[in-house]
Amino acid sequence: MPAIEVYIGLGSNLANPLRQLAQAVAKLASLPDTSLVAQSPFYRSRPIGPQDQPDFINGAVKLHTSLEPLILLGHLQRIENAHGRRRNQHWGPRTLDLDLLLYGDHPVQNERLIVPHPELTNRDFVLQPLLDLSPGLILPDGRALQVLRHQCPDNGLKRLEPEHRDSPP
Ligand code: AMP
Repeated sequence: MPAIEVYIGLGSNLANPLRQLAQAVAKLASLPDTSLVAQSPFYRSRPIGPQDQPDFINGAVKLHTSLEPLILLGHLQRIENAHGRRRNQHWGPRTLDLDLLLYGDHPVQNERLIVPHPELTNRDFVLQPLLDLSPGLILPDGRALQVLRHQCPDNGLKRLEPEHRDSPP
């Protein structure tokens, strides 16, 4: 199977989020039949849902992979679990969240996996890192990410400069 360009969204707000994300990027880069093409800057964002939790750190990576979508999802969940991810509160705090945002221009719709990720279009902490990676990106339905970013509600996104990435939020 030829390599497909995929985008993974990363988020964390517990247990040293910057380290969680850096380690997750390294694990994604070493998945079988997969190579890391580019990594976005990291951003700090206010939590969605319950506000009595720390800010999130978010980012995205672009991979080339020949893994099938559900196999890739299985790897993402295995990495989340290895980071102590517990699925408790909806929209609650988490050590690591990995979302399969885009799988080439192939839509996927089944009970375990929906691609493009359903929350992609209305979250600035997803759209902005994607735009950093690929400013001209177009969704499978023809919508341009640039346009969606302008329409998206502002969630107080702050870009972390590399020299600040060592300080915990
Ligand atoms: P979350 O708590 O946001 O990490 O959601 C995890 C659940 O969403 C899992 O049961 C996945 O099977 C499901 N899911 C559906 N579509 C996606 C996707 N594009 N990326 C990651 N998880 C997904």
